[in-house]
Amino acid sequence: MQDINSFIKIGVDDTDSPYGMCTTYVMHKIIQSIEENGGKLYGFPNLVRLNPSCPYKTRGNAALSAAFIVEAGNESKYLDIATDMVFKLSEISHPKTNPAVLMLKGELVPMDIVEFSRNAVKRILNIESALNFMKKYDINGVAINGSRGLVGAMAALGYDFPSGYTYEIIAYRSENMWGKPRVIDRESVIKMDAQTQNCTFDNYDYYNDEIKIAPHTPCPVLVGIRSIDYKCLKIALKSLKFDESIVGYRIYKTNQATDDHIIPITYIEQIEPYTSITIEVKVKSLPSTEKGGHTFLYAEKNGKELRLAAYEPTKQFRNIIMQLRPGDKIRVYGSYNPKEGEPKTLNLEKIEILEIAQYGKFFNPVCPACGHRMKSEGKEKGYQCPKCKYRMTGSKELKFENRVISIGMYEVPSRARRHLSKPFYLTVKKN
Ligand SMILES: [Zn+2]
Repeated sequence: MQDINSFIKIGVDDTDSPYGMCTTYVMHKIIQSIEENGGKLYGFPNLVRLNPSCPYKTRGNAALSAAFIVEAGNESKYLDIATDMVFKLSEISHPKTNPAVLMLKGELVPMDIVEFSRNAVKRILNIESALNFMKKYDINGVAINGSRGLVGAMAALGYDFPSGYTYEIIAYRSENMWGKPRVIDRESVIKMDAQTQNCTFDNYDYYNDEIKIAPHTPCPVLVGIRSIDYKCLKIALKSLKFDESIVGYRIYKTNQATDDHIIPITYIEQIEPYTSITIEVKVKSLPSTEKGGHTFLYAEKNGKELRLAAYEPTKQFRNIIMQLRPGDKIRVYGSYNPKEGEPKTLNLEKIEILEIAQYGKFFNPVCPACGHRMKSEGKEKGYQCPKCKYRMTGSKELKFENRVISIGMYEVPSRARRHLSKPFYLTVKKN
């Protein structure tokens, strides 16, 4: 007997540009259209954040997939629906927007595609592998403006949340509001945050007084609320107050806040360009804040050096970095995007202070006659008091600094956190 139902998965990537659109919205509309045409959404659609260090990414580097139960024999109709929607909504006029849509038939995802997907969150992958999978497994679809989007669409199809998962409910604005300022009642966000605090996260940056649930781009998204469980999300959304009505919302299963982009390594030589890593190192230099408010320091491991950076947007996190001293043992998390003429630099997301070193500074001796700090007369020439002119030989005084930092985890404030970066206080669900 022939099966009357068939299982398909649609993957979409790269429909947005800095000037508009959002791939989650494209997927939201694809789901609506497929359901209007007799298909049935199966489970939550997946919102997969790909490698945040990817130089080709448009914004949040999100790829989407959704599974459907459809009428057997009619699968291509649903791919056409998805393709039409991608053509209709994508920012095709932007040359860097390379939208792609793919359809995988059947419930089982081949293991090599799963591996490919796990890698797409961590590294830069080539288009050829995606094209090979299309041939090998009869995956149909289209790519527009070049085939780069196929990598993300394929990754969305195969992603299996190896580091756990979270959820996000995204509410969309009516089209006439796209690009207009979002008016969101601040008090209602803070209240919602308090009422759902064991479920939602990253709603508000209290250190910098910033609403975190609304994007700043001219896209169709009004707000997105992140959570570790989906059950609190609809109530959370309903409790918010806006100056406009939403035209729809959807809950996505995501890899946000899972640290899935982080590759654990042991040696500095193992850091590859355009990846995010974690490594244990020893602080080598004193930190310094340079032009533009960026804070830097050098660390080392087995004689190799690594520069650590806390850039200006990380705000208060820079104060933590300024407290580090040579000899401190730390575990760092961050990404490496090579820049010409710059030493190998890790853009820090968070650090764990493992051991605090005793750090001392040498000072000139204090004048035994009047108590003023003396001045050196030059190498091996002794000291003279600038006040009473008393002279003496002697050695510098070593004073240990009173370290004000404690062992533990420190991260960038919510406003500077990457989608994939896991807040240290959060425990996410695993498969
Ligand atoms: Zn003196």
